[in-house]
Amino acid sequence: MPLTNIRPTAELQAMDAAHHMHPFTAGNDLATKGARIIARGNGVWLTDSEGTEILDGMSGLWCVNIGYGRAELAAAAERQMRELPFYNTFFQTSHAPVIELSAKLAELVPGDLNNVFFASSGSEANDTNIRMVRHYWSLKGKPEKTVIISRKNAYHGSTLGGASLGGMVPMHQQGSLPIPDVHHINQPNWWAEGGDMSPEEFGHARARELETAIHEIGEDKVAAFIAEPIQGAGGVIVPPDSYWPEIQRICDAHDILLIADEVICGFGRTGNWFGHETVGWRPDIITIAKGLSSGYQPIGGSVVSDEIAGVIGSDEFNHGYTYSGHPVAAAVALENLRILVEENMVARVRDQIGPYLKERWTALTDHPLVGEAKIVGLMGSLALTPDKSSRAAFAAEAGTVGYICREFSFANNLIMRHVGDRMIIAPPLCITEAEVDTLVERAWTTFDQTHAKLKAEGMLRAA
Ligand SMILES: *Cc1c(COP(=O)(O)O)cnc(C)c1O
Repeated sequence: MPLTNIRPTAELQAMDAAHHMHPFTAGNDLATKGARIIARGNGVWLTDSEGTEILDGMSGLWCVNIGYGRAELAAAAERQMRELPFYNTFFQTSHAPVIELSAKLAELVPGDLNNVFFASSGSEANDTNIRMVRHYWSLKGKPEKTVIISRKNAYHGSTLGGASLGGMVPMHQQGSLPIPDVHHINQPNWWAEGGDMSPEEFGHARARELETAIHEIGEDKVAAFIAEPIQGAGGVIVPPDSYWPEIQRICDAHDILLIADEVICGFGRTGNWFGHETVGWRPDIITIAKGLSSGYQPIGGSVVSDEIAGVIGSDEFNHGYTYSGHPVAAAVALENLRILVEENMVARVRDQIGPYLKERWTALTDHPLVGEAKIVGLMGSLALTPDKSSRAAFAAEAGTVGYICREFSFANNLIMRHVGDRMIIAPPLCITEAEVDTLVERAWTTFDQTHAKLKAEGMLRAA
């Protein structure tokens, strides 16, 4: 039944097509087709403007960790808006929500990462990181340490800095990116790039590329290495077990700063509070956003070590956003963290719902279209392939099959995303076992439909 508290769907779609420019979208195509209008959310479920319920396997954009519809967050926002809707923290002032949130984050983030510089998004926080690590080395008398090493197919945001740190070729092709002094090494994607190597050999080899890059660029010129503990937007690429220990060894051996981009992996997604705990890595800075507020308010930040905060604090840091530490966003984030803690949601991912989803998700490799299944906590991916044994890619241009599959999934009222020909999920942490069953059943149906279409159209062919 169409919802009655908003304009009719067709009218909304026409207005959307006429006036709204969508991110990462071929706008004219969407205008012809019409966007699906999402109207409500509750738990893991969305309702569209036609009243259809959709299982959100992606937590929005990997962010609605506690699930939709938590009235406590609405109440926290209202309280704070009435009390103090805005004040800045630039000119020697502060306010209770940002203070409480900073202290809470210092408590939750391991080690001596006790200091938070706020932004309104992950992209902005990574821009902060670029300026902060370069300024740090400059203050330490090493201004030539400016290069940041990142990885191909990484995602670190969409601002000039964030997109430059990211290793997404289609993004670099638009707007003359990357900015200078960003270097990209290869990603640890064994399925697509491992060739004849065993996963362990391959993981080791890809990690060694960091050391090679440091030698080639010169340690005296490298400021930092940035990585997602598990690549998210790149397709939930889970590196072989040999990868992270070798990265840590290399990091320990060289005088560079380590930035863990926890924008997706943070706040319980991988079964620990932070992804670097899951992979066993010790960063100097972490980037946070998304799950920090479960997406209820735009907020992000950089959590940095006492050492870095001390050095940066020795001078005026000429950097900040009007909304750094916004009181309403901070109050909502605090309430979100309270719920994550009090409802024991992170341990539940690790011990209960994560293992259950893993079992069901991994069993999808029984489907003829599905090659490998990867999952850590509640972020998972599947590689679609015309031939499992050779890990073959499809003859069609990369992403063609993934898109077909995504369209079937959407029509089956399951939100899965595709990255190339990998299908990915990252459901809200509150998902129940029965909802996992529904997710997996809809995914199986989706693969059946995709398989049938590929067969009918002669597309079940290897490249
Ligand atoms: C989403 C994301 C970002 C960018 O965050 P925005 O809030 O979209 O700017 C940065 N890093 C990672 C790992 C992300 O997934």
